[in-house]
Amino acid sequence: MMQMRDAGVLVVGSGLAGLLTALRLAPRPVTLLTKTPFLAGGSSDLAQGGVAAAVALDDSPEDHAADTLEAGAGLCDEAMVRLLAEDGVREARILLEEGLPFDLDDDGAPLLGREAAHGRHRILHAGGDATGRTLVGALVERVRNTPSITVVEGAFAVELAMAGDHVGGLLACHADEDWVFHRCPRLVLATGGIGSVYLRTTNPPEATGDGLAMAARAGARLGDLEFVQFHPTALAATSPGQSKPMPLLTEALRGEGAVLLDGQGRRFMPDEHPLAELAPRDIIARAVWRRLEAGEVVTLDLRPALEKAGIERFPTVLAYCRAAGLDATATPIPVAPAAHYHMGGVVTDANGRTSLPGLWACGEIADTGVHGANRLASNSLLEAVVFSRRIAADIAGLPLAHPPQVPRLLPPSVPAADAAGDLAAITLDVRRTMYTRVGLWRDGDGLQEARRHLAALSERLDGLPAVRGGGFAEVARWGEARNLLLVARLVTEAAWRRRESRGAHYRADFPDLPGPGQPRQFLTLADLDTQPD
Ligand SMILES: Cc1cc2nc3c(=O)[nH]c(=O)nc-3n(C[C@H](O)[C@H](O)[C@H](O)COP(=O)(O)OP(=O)(O)OC[C@H]3O[C@@H](n4cnc5c(N)ncnc54)[C@H](O)[C@@H]3O)c2cc1C
Repeated sequence: MMQMRDAGVLVVGSGLAGLLTALRLAPRPVTLLTKTPFLAGGSSDLAQGGVAAAVALDDSPEDHAADTLEAGAGLCDEAMVRLLAEDGVREARILLEEGLPFDLDDDGAPLLGREAAHGRHRILHAGGDATGRTLVGALVERVRNTPSITVVEGAFAVELAMAGDHVGGLLACHADEDWVFHRCPRLVLATGGIGSVYLRTTNPPEATGDGLAMAARAGARLGDLEFVQFHPTALAATSPGQSKPMPLLTEALRGEGAVLLDGQGRRFMPDEHPLAELAPRDIIARAVWRRLEAGEVVTLDLRPALEKAGIERFPTVLAYCRAAGLDATATPIPVAPAAHYHMGGVVTDANGRTSLPGLWACGEIADTGVHGANRLASNSLLEAVVFSRRIAADIAGLPLAHPPQVPRLLPPSVPAADAAGDLAAITLDVRRTMYTRVGLWRDGDGLQEARRHLAALSERLDGLPAVRGGGFAEVARWGEARNLLLVARLVTEAAWRRRESRGAHYRADFPDLPGPGQPRQFLTLADLDTQPD
């Protein structure tokens, strides 16, 4: 049985981007869907560092923009970066005025942290290193207390419904009600990133790129897909591929003196870069990766940092280690690079509009152009803060629209419960392929091989016997597998086409950094069928 519902505005995803968009739209009626059984889900909850904004007296939006452009390695949209930095100051002040629980000094001014590649102290944080959890917790409470927002947890968004080239609805599988067709004239995708496409990731398992895949299937313009930022030191205590995010061993540890050791217990970063453990993220990540590929165990010795800064400085990290059965005060901790953040996504303008009328994108799913080839730390939460406001204002400024006459989508046939093993095997294969061929270290042969292999996996997935009437678990399992596979193919295609090294994209067959300066790359789904060789 399928239900029909009319939503004023439908927001899909309840991380920072979705929660803020819904709140900024109040008192307009909003339906907020999330696939996890609880609010909020997603990466927002895990954010440690904070929100970058030039609120300090000795800082300016110009300086923040300059640092962002520098990190973006020549591929940022400059106008969007300036907008981010300028709006960022105002929006950060509004969040403070609204009483979000940022860490404050005795005078009530925000305490500001400093992170790599920021020229100033400009990171607002909350709950120490638990910024995401603290902010999201406060926003969830506000959402629950806002009568105009209808929250639906356990609702898996499956497909966008098109009325011509307009987005006019969404088919979703609800855990408690079966299939629901949401007609809506305005739809905001806030479904987060794609970390789960990789074998090792700091992202939660729900980061499977669902929104990106849905938008791609609907024909949206996608951009900068090849740029995936890896964090160099994720705690590698569990076997890769488990459906748990890998905990971050924060950069601040290296800032306080923690050192990386190879399989023989020797420090190797001084041979790799003059800044040793404080070299740029990508350089450290590749140095670690090469040693892991050679079969070594790479460890981070936290003890110098713990001795210098005191163990009370790193409670979250020490708790992660303890939970993995490791005592960081006694022994070096195994690490591996892990996919952390996707710079690319669904291309949007300054108001979050995508190339498809009726569809907006906000947060990590969006490609606003502010990150270029590499994200400056703590600019992603800021991006969600700034663009959620602009999207809400844009939607509120449009005339009240009636639900479009959009052809109803029928529930798809999905692989039955006994195909779970096949889906898991395909997913693991995708994640391995992406980590080894389309991760930190890419070359033409590996990318070509990955393109062919992923296309073959796609055929295998399409060929699994399917039945009508699958429940939420089957739909979500199949939906995530096919979305992850499509996103993997798109990222691989973009990486194959960028024949240079730039920012987070390193091609061993074009190793000179920076490369000749290929412009930003935009793709649509159709480009997968017209692959140049
Ligand atoms: C460990 C870690 C630390 C980080 N630290 C920082 C930091 O300090 N500062 C910073 O700026 N950035 C940081 N980042 C990045 C930042 O957290 C993310 O970019 C940001 O939180 C993304 O927010 P979002 O709202 O776009 O997506 P998310 O928070 O990932 O939320 C996505 C939402 O979409 C829902 N969803 C997905 N698919 C579907 C579907 N098919 N149907 C229905 N719902 C769906 C999910 O359930 C979830 O609610 C960090 C990331 C990680 C992983």
